[in-house]
Amino acid sequence: MTAPNKLRARTAAYDLLDELEIRNFPISPFYVCDYLGIQCHTYAEAPQFLWPNVNTLKSKHIDGFCYRRGVESVILYDDSQSHSRIRFTVAHEIGHLILRHHIAPPDDLPADDPRWAFHKDYKESEADTFAGALIRPAVLIRMHSINDTESIVNGFDVSWECASVGLSISKKFSYNWYLSQHPFFRDCNVRMPAPNESA
Ligand SMILES: [Zn+2]
Repeated sequence: MTAPNKLRARTAAYDLLDELEIRNFPISPFYVCDYLGIQCHTYAEAPQFLWPNVNTLKSKHIDGFCYRRGVESVILYDDSQSHSRIRFTVAHEIGHLILRHHIAPPDDLPADDPRWAFHKDYKESEADTFAGALIRPAVLIRMHSINDTESIVNGFDVSWECASVGLSISKKFSYNWYLSQHPFFRDCNVRMPAPNESA
């Protein structure tokens, strides 16, 4: 069984924020896709050859998926979901692509090996960690001493659930390391809307 490497996922998201020279939140995951050359389409815009697949995903309430074909990286997402859910879904799929989850798993399991289920779980967990770190970095919540969920919802344009998770992990002592060591936060001049400025 492979455990999720959340440190790697989180650091990959922070590295990307640094590379993008993000200075303001909320950020757009669609902008990140543009920067990375990832094509991003709604399910309705999916190429015809994917349609049987897309219909299955919709019937299972799966919000998005991604694939690589040659040099192309493509994300497809269900645009009938809420605004904040779409933002998280697209960021989650970027995570799968950045973390190279499409490459064979570490011990090259055959496709019918039941242990695949664990691999799938670790990938989902890592992609969720990446998505949260990208669109609502818990280190910024700590840095700006934000203590209420509503300010996080408004400041980062995320769902209540995503904001609550961010608030709780921002209190972890281990996050101090990022404040002093990671380049994105170390020299940080990132602005966030003040809590009472929120729309
Ligand atoms: Zn996923």
